Amino acid sequence: MGISRTPTLTRTRDLPGRCDVAVLGGGLAGLATALRLQAAGLSTVVFEAHGHAGGCAGYFRHRGFSFDVGATTLVDFAPGGVGDELLASTGAPALDAEQLPGYVAWLPDRVVTLHREQSRWHAERLRTLGDSRAHRRFWAELDLLAEVFWAASRSGIRLPVRTPADALHDLRAVGLRNLPLVRHLGRTMGDALRAHGLRGQDSLVSLLGMLVEDTVHSTVDRAPLINAALGVTIRGAGLTRHRGGMHGFWRALVTHYRALGGDLRTGCRVQRVTDRQDSLLGRRRHGDPGFTVHTARGSVDADAVVSALPAPVTAEVAAGTPVAAGLRRYLVRDEPDLGGAVVVFLGVPEHEVAGQEFTHHQLMQDYRRPLGEGNNMFVSVSSPGDEISAPPGHRAVMISTHTELAGWQGLSEAEYAVRKREIGQRLVEHTRRVYPRLGEQAVVWQVGTPRSYERFTWRPQGAVGGVRQTLRNSNQFAVPHRTGLPGFWQVGDTTWPGLGTVACVLGSRLVAQDVLRHAPTGVRS
Ligand SMILES: Cc1cc2nc3c(=O)[nH]c(=O)nc-3n(C[C@H](O)[C@H](O)[C@H](O)COP(=O)(O)OP(=O)(O)OC[C@H]3O[C@@H](n4cnc5c(N)ncnc54)[C@H](O)[C@@H]3O)c2cc1C
Repeated sequence: MGISRTPTLTRTRDLPGRCDVAVLGGGLAGLATALRLQAAGLSTVVFEAHGHAGGCAGYFRHRGFSFDVGATTLVDFAPGGVGDELLASTGAPALDAEQLPGYVAWLPDRVVTLHREQSRWHAERLRTLGDSRAHRRFWAELDLLAEVFWAASRSGIRLPVRTPADALHDLRAVGLRNLPLVRHLGRTMGDALRAHGLRGQDSLVSLLGMLVEDTVHSTVDRAPLINAALGVTIRGAGLTRHRGGMHGFWRALVTHYRALGGDLRTGCRVQRVTDRQDSLLGRRRHGDPGFTVHTARGSVDADAVVSALPAPVTAEVAAGTPVAAGLRRYLVRDEPDLGGAVVVFLGVPEHEVAGQEFTHHQLMQDYRRPLGEGNNMFVSVSSPGDEISAPPGHRAVMISTHTELAGWQGLSEAEYAVRKREIGQRLVEHTRRVYPRLGEQAVVWQVGTPRSYERFTWRPQGAVGGVRQTLRNSNQFAVPHRTGLPGFWQVGDTTWPGLGTVACVLGSRLVAQDVLRHAPTGVRS
């Protein structure tokens, strides 16, 4: 049965048991995909297990504060960006948000301001990290890759390439004259540093390492060069903070989705998706919708399904279908490259975060120690006057770091409590390099761990942010959006292009285009 293009504003309400497209998961990838499809005239239902949408880019409220649970910044939502395209193409109102002018990286022996404006950033990096010919050539190579591949991303580049049409599309997105740059697909950031004789320079390699860990979850020696170049330049692509943080952003996004007739069902955990075309027996019930989504609060039939759940959860809910079978080899391959996060949420009096021009900082304590577990932290402070994020005279502070999942497993309750307290205190102490009085009179002091993510976002083991990107699991080797089952797509930070708000929004665009491409003739035909 084909997807109906009949205006659906009333259809979903009249027939709550069926829709054109069921979207599993109300994180950014899910809601962005649903928003696009709803705006294009399909009826969509989003199933979200938590009490509100947001997932790893969500929020929680406590004692008048609103804290971002994961993402604190939206990437590439400035005019012409990937995020801006989402808003424009779905008729969403402009965001009530500010562009960050950049942020500050605190290395063990120096401070580097990562200006958003390219000319200021260029001068700063040469001044603080070295101004040799090798440095200039290295940065020129990185800048070129970033420029070309940011443009290609904004043109909707499609990976992994599966069909000649994908290849043609990507050729256009990259541009014929930039085609030689595709040779960098097989190189890592470490390869590029070595080629320029810079792999041994602590400050440069460490700064890149911090940015790479934060954006593609990898190390300089494992991160694919092109992905790393995009990650290192996200501040140039524009970091946006919404008024009220993610709470403000989601309020706006969900309001718009519902105004278009979209049906967001919160507290509605998907248990199972069944394929009503019994492909094994070759039977097909003509006229029946293709899938049934089962939840504890009833089931919904849908012509198509977009799973915006992490890949392991998709495999669980689609058990017994070709979707789960197709995912198996990726899940086995990617298991060792999963990682977690710890976040400290502080509600503090204004004076504890006084004295800094920038509201966002990234800190490293020790060049010799591996990154993560506090040795690379991202600190976000709500803007002055943002009274959705914090009561008058106060500010919300989020401090996050990467953590190994293994260290959180098999702990007794007492051991867990100790580990959680210790890492929370460590993160706050490190942040006192920027804000010496931070946390002295905190109104709120809470710590989120992989256990918290598992509990509130249902991510197995609390693994967040997709996999640590390497040459063997990203781009052409990434988890694809199309599955082995026609009419069933997957999207989100465990699929290409990977983690982060910009990646999720780009993924939503590609998946929505694919769903719509199949819509007039029937997604299941
Ligand atoms: C600490 C931290 C900091 C970060 N900082 C940034 C940043 O500053 N900028 C940036 O761009 N990115 C950042 N990221 C990454 C970004 O937040 C994520 O990559 C992105 O939000 C993932 O979105 P998603 O939709 O793919 O997945 P999710 O957000 O995980 O969405 C999946 C949704 O599915 C729901 N769900 C799960 N199981 C079920 C089920 N069975 N039925 C129904 N619903 C279900 C979950 O509750 C969740 O809402 C950060 C991530 C973390 C953890």
